[in-house]
Amino acid sequence: MTQTVPGTLYIVAAPSGAGKSSLVNALIKRLPFVYLSISHTTRQVRPGETDGDHYHFTTTDEFLDMVGRGEFLEHAQVFDNYYGTSQVYVQRQLDAGHDVILEIDWQGAQQVRKLMPDCKSIFILPPSREALLERLEKRQQDSADVIERRMRDAVSEMSHYAEFDYLIINDDFYKALDELCTIFTANRVTIDQQKQRYDSLIEQLLN
Ligand code: 5GP
Repeated sequence: MTQTVPGTLYIVAAPSGAGKSSLVNALIKRLPFVYLSISHTTRQVRPGETDGDHYHFTTTDEFLDMVGRGEFLEHAQVFDNYYGTSQVYVQRQLDAGHDVILEIDWQGAQQVRKLMPDCKSIFILPPSREALLERLEKRQQDSADVIERRMRDAVSEMSHYAEFDYLIINDDFYKALDELCTIFTANRVTIDQQKQRYDSLIEQLLN
């Protein structure tokens, strides 16, 4: 018999093109207790994306109404669009004992750290500038000028890496994935968590 222990909130940030989403999706397949928060955004749907799966796509009016109703744990303007994290979704998953990942930018990370200081934050860097550019070009989802701007924004995003608790370099995908999984798994077996989770077992063993 185990007790449900509230989950941990994780922030995973990276510049666009560092391979963050692929790593997070692979992590979720490996670790069943980890849930991904699907953000709301006002940006255009890209080819291959579906509403409710990659993002909840909303109009600017809908988004600003949600801001007004205090429905976001954090929100920010990234590039030319708004992005936000649903407060209710996150709290519900944490209460159910699930760890929750927020794939958000450095501005959102700063807001979440203030509100939930126990959260853990992870930054992912690409192995080189060339690799980053190559990954941005391979997507073929954005025009050349958008890619150029994203490259500049990537440098600005990367300049915040030291505000995070963990740093992963995504050179070898499976090495990076192992490192990511290790963070989640290690945090799950801290004395604090296990003491609560296995309360009755520990009681039986010691008495
Ligand atoms: P993309 O449009 O390429 O999916 O994401 C662009 C940027 O927005 C990425 O850096 C991503 O982490 C960030 N982002 C996505 N969702 C959120 C969110 O809910 N809040 C914040 N603050 N940033 C987000």
